[in-house]
Amino acid sequence: MRQLIIIGSGPAALTAAIYAARANLAPLVIASSVEAGGELMNTTEVENFPGFPEAVQGPELMTKIQEQAEKFGAEVVYDDVVSVDFGGPVKSVKLGSGTTHDAAAVIFATGSAYRKIGIEGEERLSGRGVSWCATCDGFFFRERTIAVVGGGDSAMEEATFLTRFASKVYVIHRRDELRASKIMQERAFANEKIEFVWNSAVVDILGTDAVTGVVLEDTVTGERRELPLEGLFVAIGNDPRTHLVHDVLDLTPEGTIWVDGRSSRTSVPGVFAAGDVIDPTYRQAVTAAASGTVAALDAEHFLAVLNEAGLPTPDDDQIAGLPDADPVAASRH
Ligand SMILES: Cc1cc2nc3c(=O)[nH]c(=O)nc-3n(C[C@H](O)[C@H](O)[C@H](O)COP(=O)(O)OP(=O)(O)OC[C@H]3O[C@@H](n4cnc5c(N)ncnc54)[C@H](O)[C@@H]3O)c2cc1C
Repeated sequence: MRQLIIIGSGPAALTAAIYAARANLAPLVIASSVEAGGELMNTTEVENFPGFPEAVQGPELMTKIQEQAEKFGAEVVYDDVVSVDFGGPVKSVKLGSGTTHDAAAVIFATGSAYRKIGIEGEERLSGRGVSWCATCDGFFFRERTIAVVGGGDSAMEEATFLTRFASKVYVIHRRDELRASKIMQERAFANEKIEFVWNSAVVDILGTDAVTGVVLEDTVTGERRELPLEGLFVAIGNDPRTHLVHDVLDLTPEGTIWVDGRSSRTSVPGVFAAGDVIDPTYRQAVTAAASGTVAALDAEHFLAVLNEAGLPTPDDDQIAGLPDADPVAASRH
């Protein structure tokens, strides 16, 4: 049985792996079979991760973070967790290959997925004009004409933020009214650089190597027209990847995994969560990495207390005998 299993391979999981490996916990990282490296694998230049004044390519950054974790003893497996059993002191995760791994503690860092429009060109031009993150990519669109798709608070926030860089920001929305809160709407309406395109759906994204425009379909008349653009920000929502633990861990009203205050402790002792899967607000590589650090330190502390009592095996339930059933929480009181 392992001491620690880490699920995920984005900045949160791999930073947790660096800390856990350096603490001699020999963590097993379940990285995913096809999406190893997380969201930064889908982007080109990352200009806001500390330590890279000349910027770094997303995949290169993730490769380096993984190398750092492996150098200290983390073991990375390219497979998907298909189910978990966190019911007892021994945590089990089952992989797509059929293998099951057991550990005394688990860090859950499966990230979140930006909702996609689901049209051709969206994936192909990702990082080449199509983006889901104004904070990450707004800087690349100085004096450009761009559009934001969406009608909620985050779309208004992204559009307003993007006017710091772009010369013109269209907000493309399927309906003739917004879902966004009144204050966010008013701020967007008052901004001279923002123009609303109502009753319109993006049905195609134009461009070979970079976005040159979109095809809009009028949701009332069905008429189609082209809108020339140099960038398209998709702001139609974000779903934390929690399907494995919906019935296992407590979630917040936003759908992220609930954690106790500033810690990474979930509602189940011995299960910690980190990164975008617990974060409805910031969702940046560096905040995910920091969150991974917190999770590794929490897990380390949990395991230290547990090791003093003797690690659980699949046949016993020693944790149940400990005060508060959570040795970390108990030791902090
Ligand atoms: C296009 C794009 C550009 C971005 N640019 C920037 C930027 O410039 N700067 C910045 O700071 N942030 C940027 N971000 C945001 C940043 O990528 C995320 O905030 C960060 O990656 C979150 O890290 P994470 O580790 O929580 O999750 P993720 O990076 O999403 O990683 C989660 C990992 O968990 C794995 N996983 C999920 N389910 C399972 C399972 N069942 N079994 C095994 N593995 C599983 C996934 O495959 C993935 O590898 C960008 C995001 C996108 C989409």
